[in-house]
Amino acid sequence: HYENVSAIVPNAAKETLVRELISLAGETGQKIQPVNYRSRALVKVQDGCDARCTFCLIPYLRGPARSTPPQDVIRQIDRVIERGFKEVVVAGIHLCAYGQDLTPPETLLSLLQEIVKRPGLSLLRLSSLDPRLLPEDLLEFIAGEDKICSHFHLSLQHASPGVLKKMGRRSRPEEYLEILNYLHDQRPEASLGADIITGFPEESEEDYLFLKKFLETSPLTYFHVFSYSPRPGTPAARWPGVPEKIKKDRADGLRKISREKNLAFKLKFLNQARRAIVVRKKGDRAEALTDNYIKVILTGNKSQEAGLRQLVPVRINRVTATEVTGEVV
Ligand code: SF4
Repeated sequence: HYENVSAIVPNAAKETLVRELISLAGETGQKIQPVNYRSRALVKVQDGCDARCTFCLIPYLRGPARSTPPQDVIRQIDRVIERGFKEVVVAGIHLCAYGQDLTPPETLLSLLQEIVKRPGLSLLRLSSLDPRLLPEDLLEFIAGEDKICSHFHLSLQHASPGVLKKMGRRSRPEEYLEILNYLHDQRPEASLGADIITGFPEESEEDYLFLKKFLETSPLTYFHVFSYSPRPGTPAARWPGVPEKIKKDRADGLRKISREKNLAFKLKFLNQARRAIVVRKKGDRAEALTDNYIKVILTGNKSQEAGLRQLVPVRINRVTATEVTGEVV
């Protein structure tokens, strides 16, 4: 499952999220409930997928796309706000397809426009977005709405046109770049992430180098790299694979670029304050997650006083390759 795995939480919490998403999904048609994420509320608004990417089992496992009606989503959002959550994460297996299955059809744009009006909501974070389903009006809205976190995660999967075609994802790298450049221009402070698969069947050295160059030069600030592994029953599982050693080397190479880009991104915010949610408190250790997706270990007295879930201004004091520290100001 390559969509939505990594968009919302830092690495440490990723496994928890996957478990939550899986447990949330339930049986087809089952009522979807908000999950107490402890510090941020995850509201799943959509399940299933009608796309047929050649590597993906989700449509077989989770069934067709289905959305929670907007009025039910709003009720869930109001409930979690009442419970004291300041940040809501809106999630779906194929979030951008939200509403297409409803009668009358709805759109993700109209849903988000309603959600941001809810009193008491401070931050709204979006799970993985499909670049093929990002019309201009939606893009403009998410880039311009202050309550929406400066963090956008796109399910790009690859950049080479040949591989994208074999993946069954009708899209072009130029379109990806246009979206990324737009988000970066509108919100230069935004964390821009992507899911990437390398070692897809018949991925040539040229395909890989194309992808590598794309990732290096794009405004992406991190990417989650998956080394392709066949899912029995999917079309791609029957195609000739790339040798394991090459797959591993390619994935390692891309992960290294991601680490470097992410460090450079975080360094830009040294000595700056950002909105953040206190996401963990254990003994005298506290952590916050900024709106632009930087996990900060909190130090200082004021930080100790900040409660879990609270929205606080956090100044970043130190950035290293492994951790970021800061304080509530
Ligand atoms: S869009 Fe493609 S990768 Fe994403 S869940 Fe649907 S089939 Fe899978």
